[in-house]
Amino acid sequence: MDFASDNSSGASDRVMAALMAANAGAAMPYGADPWTSAAERAVQDLFERECAVFFAPTGTAANALALAALTPPHGAIFCHEEAHIANDECGAPEFYTAGAKLVGLGGAQGRMSLDALKGALARFPRGLVKQVQPSALSLTQATECGTLYSLDELDALCAAARAAGVRVHMDGARFANAVARLGCSPARMSWRAGVDVLSFGATKNGTICCEAVIFFDPALAHDFAFRRKRGGHTLSKGRFLGAQMSAYLQDGHWLDLARHANAMADRLAQGLAACPGVRLPWPCEANEVFAILPRSTDSALKAAGALYYPWGSRGLPSHQFPGPDELLVRLVSSFATREQDVDRFVAIAKMIG
Ligand SMILES: *Cc1c(COP(=O)(O)O)cnc(C)c1O
Repeated sequence: MDFASDNSSGASDRVMAALMAANAGAAMPYGADPWTSAAERAVQDLFERECAVFFAPTGTAANALALAALTPPHGAIFCHEEAHIANDECGAPEFYTAGAKLVGLGGAQGRMSLDALKGALARFPRGLVKQVQPSALSLTQATECGTLYSLDELDALCAAARAAGVRVHMDGARFANAVARLGCSPARMSWRAGVDVLSFGATKNGTICCEAVIFFDPALAHDFAFRRKRGGHTLSKGRFLGAQMSAYLQDGHWLDLARHANAMADRLAQGLAACPGVRLPWPCEANEVFAILPRSTDSALKAAGALYYPWGSRGLPSHQFPGPDELLVRLVSSFATREQDVDRFVAIAKMIG
C-alpha cells in the first residue's frame, strides 16, 4: 500500500524493454544517436508543431534549466507559493538563473489566482531599477495539490503574463495525468494556451529517469545545449534517454499509464469519502488524493504498513482545518498502483473510523 509518491514505482515494462533493446551495440554519445532523434520527432508529432526538444534526467534540472533560459539574474519568476520550484528543488532555479527571485503567489488548492498574478505584475513594474524585473510565470499542471487548472484558467493566466511581456513556463511533472483527465490535446494544454516552455515529465509516470524540456519558440532555446552541458545534465549515453521517451510516447502508452493512475486515485477518493470520519478537502482531479483522517485511522493504516506523507494544512480555509485528532495526508497513485492495495487501504479506513 505505497501511496507515498508516484516516484515510488519503477518503470513500465515497455520502457524497460526499450532500454534493453537500446543496449545492443554502439551509438554516438551525447544525444547524437538515432534514439534521441526519434524521440525528438515523437515529441514534435505529439505537440503538433516544430519545437526544440531537450531531454534531461530529472524534473528539477528540466525546470531550473528551462527557467534559466527565460530569466536573467535580475528577473522575477512568479509561481504558486506551494510550487515545487519554490519548495522542493533546493534552490536549483535560483542557482541556474544565477540568482533570479522566485515570487510565491497565493491561490486556493494549489491554483494561482488570476488576481494574485495581476497584483504581482503591478507590484513589479518594468524599468524600476531597485526591483527584479518580471520575467517568467511558472504554472504547475497538475498542481502540487493534485488539482487542475481548467483550459480557460490557463488561457487567462498566460494572457495576463504575455500582456506584461512575461514568458510562461509550465512544470508538467504530472502533465500526462492532467491531459488524461481534461481529455484535451497536449498542444491545447501547452502552447495553444500560451505556454512558451514546458517541462514534460515522464519519470513519475513510467520512465526511469527522463523528462523533456520543450521550447515551443525554438529561438528561446538558442543557448540551451550549453546551459544543460554546463549544468552537468547532458548524458554521455544519451540514447538511453531517447529510448525511454520513445517507448513512453509510442501508441499512446503514456496516456494509458496516466489513465490507470488517475483511475486508482478516483477509486481511493471514492472509497475514502464513504469512510466515517474521513474528509476530502478538495476533489481528486489527477492522481493524488488529499484526505483528512482521524488519527486513529492514520495509526491503523501505518500499522498495516501503508506508506504516505502528511501534508501541511496551510492551504486550507480555516473552517476545514484538521482538528486535534485529525491529520491531513497526501496519497499518490501511479501507473503501477494495484486495485487490491487501494481496496485494502479503504477497508482499513472503513473499519477504524
Ligand atoms: C516530482 C516533481 C518534479 C520533479 O522532481 P525531480 O525529483 O527533480 O525529478 C517537478 N515538479 C513537480 C510538481 C513534481 O511533483
